[in-house]
Amino acid sequence: MSEEKSKKVPLLTKGTALSLVKVDEAVQHFTEPPAYFTEATLVKELEDRGIGRPSTYSPIIQTILARDYIAKEGKKLMPTELGILTMDLLDQYFKQIIDVPFSAKMESELDAIGEHKADKTKVLSEFYKPFAAALEVADKEIPVVEMPVIVTDVKCEKCGRMMVIKEGRHGKFLACPGFPECRNTKPLLNKIGVKCPQCGGDIIERRSKTRRVFYGCSNYPNCKFTTWDKPVNSFCPKCNSIMLEHVDRNGKKTLHCSNEKCELSSLKKKK
Ligand SMILES: [Zn+2]
Ligand SMILES: [Zn+2]
Ligand SMILES: [Zn+2]
Repeated sequence: MSEEKSKKVPLLTKGTALSLVKVDEAVQHFTEPPAYFTEATLVKELEDRGIGRPSTYSPIIQTILARDYIAKEGKKLMPTELGILTMDLLDQYFKQIIDVPFSAKMESELDAIGEHKADKTKVLSEFYKPFAAALEVADKEIPVVEMPVIVTDVKCEKCGRMMVIKEGRHGKFLACPGFPECRNTKPLLNKIGVKCPQCGGDIIERRSKTRRVFYGCSNYPNCKFTTWDKPVNSFCPKCNSIMLEHVDRNGKKTLHCSNEKCELSSLKKKK
């Protein structure tokens, strides 16, 4: 190739050797999205990066679950819309604090304080001054973000408006948009379009205390039908009971019968 940076198209004749120059620079590198974490792989990652200590791994995960930053899908920990939004804002306004090496250094400094090898006031003021400054900026600049309103097909029985989904401390619920005139709220029943095999009620998706998804009946507590595996609109060839979809750790789906007494049942009962 010539040294000269000519923009003219080089004259190519038969036999001209062509070379690829710096293909690397020209090709955009797409990073694979990281595979989702499970509790075990997240703890491993925290350990490897020096964040958290054995006594704090579990509270860290419980906290981000309780605040709805992540949700569990089987064993997978998936970021929620709120989690992604929060992360973007933290990344923008508190970059130096949510930085991984910074957090690891902070942890070892806290250890050093615990072992009386570092001065508490000095360490904390080194942290607090830049933090207070960043907080002040964030407080002024971050707009109040309204989460999008999701209107449901549930009619408010008090005023006839269509109810909307709201997020509260204990997760999602239905609220009347007529607030404050109408203060009606009720639990969000996430129907999956399948009828309860025991009473014909609606099967609803619910979450356990550990935020794991399970399925129960809308007639609870009168009907106690519950299952971890998702009921589907397909019926057992042996006994005609409703089938459940089991997803294994590799994401492979298999159907089994919801009738415990049936030979096609491999029911893992909740509780
Ligand atoms: Zn209402
Ligand atoms: Zn039922
Ligand atoms: Zn069956």
